[in-house]
Amino acid sequence: MLPVGAQSSLTGGATPRGDVVISTRALNAIGAVKKDGATGGTVRADAGVPLSALQRALTPSGYYYPPVPTYDGAFLGGTISTNAAGAATFKYGSARRWVERLTVVLADGAILDLKRGDVTASPDGSLELEPPGAAPIRIPVPGYTMPDVAKLSAGYYARPGMDLVDLFVGSEGTLGFIVDATVRVIPRPRACAVLVRCTSDVQAVALTAALRNDAVASWRGEGPLDVSAVEFMDHRALAVVPDDAFACAGVKRPDAPSVMLLVQIEVAADADAALERLQQVLDACGVDADPHVAMPGDLDGAARFFELRESVPASVNAVVAAAKLTHPGVEKTAGDLVVPFDRLGESLALYRTTFERAALPYAIWGHVSDGNLHPNVVPRSWDDVERGREAILEMARAVMAMGGAPLAEHGVGRSALKQRLLRALYGDRGIDEMRAVKRALDPEWKFSPGVLFPKD
Ligand SMILES: Cc1cc2nc3c(=O)[nH]c(=O)nc-3n(C[C@H](O)[C@H](O)[C@H](O)COP(=O)(O)OP(=O)(O)OC[C@H]3O[C@@H](n4cnc5c(N)ncnc54)[C@H](O)[C@@H]3O)c2cc1C
Repeated sequence: MLPVGAQSSLTGGATPRGDVVISTRALNAIGAVKKDGATGGTVRADAGVPLSALQRALTPSGYYYPPVPTYDGAFLGGTISTNAAGAATFKYGSARRWVERLTVVLADGAILDLKRGDVTASPDGSLELEPPGAAPIRIPVPGYTMPDVAKLSAGYYARPGMDLVDLFVGSEGTLGFIVDATVRVIPRPRACAVLVRCTSDVQAVALTAALRNDAVASWRGEGPLDVSAVEFMDHRALAVVPDDAFACAGVKRPDAPSVMLLVQIEVAADADAALERLQQVLDACGVDADPHVAMPGDLDGAARFFELRESVPASVNAVVAAAKLTHPGVEKTAGDLVVPFDRLGESLALYRTTFERAALPYAIWGHVSDGNLHPNVVPRSWDDVERGREAILEMARAVMAMGGAPLAEHGVGRSALKQRLLRALYGDRGIDEMRAVKRALDPEWKFSPGVLFPKD
């Protein structure tokens, strides 16, 4: 049985291979927001609700669900199953942080109504649950240590004293079918979007670091520059984007080796104070090009900047599809690498030298404020794909040595490359510990066989 949401998985996790597909498309009810003081509230919604529809439903009451991936047509259940993360993970974290309660159908048909705090791991490292009308289940919590990074979608969550809800978040449909979820929501922030042109990677990394520092200070009430996200597009990524995407955004195509950053700034009341401070930070970092600004309320302007950002993966995907016509077997070959932020500059230089040493055409973009970039091969042939995979494995090993992870937000799915990365991260022992978790909840291996790891 393969549970599927919007099937936007980039890992083959939602692509059936002879499975019985359980679609969540018709599970689309959204409840009313239950207010919880001034800080927000909770809303219960079905697994098949697209996040764009959830945001639309929340808008009239002024609420907002923060962990939305770049593709906002993804469904609530799919995003929880992959622990998806949006551009603003630096401020808001990934889906895990927002999930309060889940309804899950287990492989034997038992239905769990699971609230945070109901089941936590015992000191001897196991989660004990008693599904209604079924035999008790003991789940051994894996002993591996997860990397300490802003986002992670790399197999089963495992921590001493962990909550059972966290085991289902990010389990990619292998442990049970999520029917609905209760998630936290917050008052919708007003935001500016700003496009900034930097002259080099070094300048872009320094500027992102400075913006993060200002953001953290603003959360303590010490300054007006509340940056929630910084997105990165290198000149190679921008070179693939068609002219009309720049024309739509009202932006000139930058010369090589420029980098564009798309900065999202939340403003409580006074956008001017935030923008004045932004200019000071740009000056301090030596950024001399004037930024393009979409003020709060200019939703169309902001949407055009985000369309430019989204046209980067779309344009690279179009190149991959065109190459496939003459070289069948060519496919998207990309890293989803995250490092602790203080290793970002080093990791970016490493991605470039690895691709350049292999003489591979490539582009790099991603969620730079999280330390999460997507180095992509722009393949011309099957040979590029094969050598690109080796290059990404090399980068992944280096990233792990920096305390990072090669599986930040897209998950593992049925991708042979990503399954190799998962094994590299936790070793054979870690994979066996995950198998033990799977066996405890799904002894007949009914759910999503071959997702995350093979049975044997
Ligand atoms: C253009 C583009 C941009 C993207 N940007 C991002 C990004 O910024 N951040 C990010 O994290 N991801 C991103 N993704 C990847 C993808 O959108 C996410 O992985 C998303 O969470 C998948 O949601 P979905 O509803 O499409 O799930 P699907 O692709 O249908 O399923 C994903 C996995 O979850 C399982 N699953 C789905 N629903 C359930 C359920 N109800 N119960 C149990 N298991 C279930 C499936 O079996 C599968 O293993 C992007 C994808 C695209 C195409």
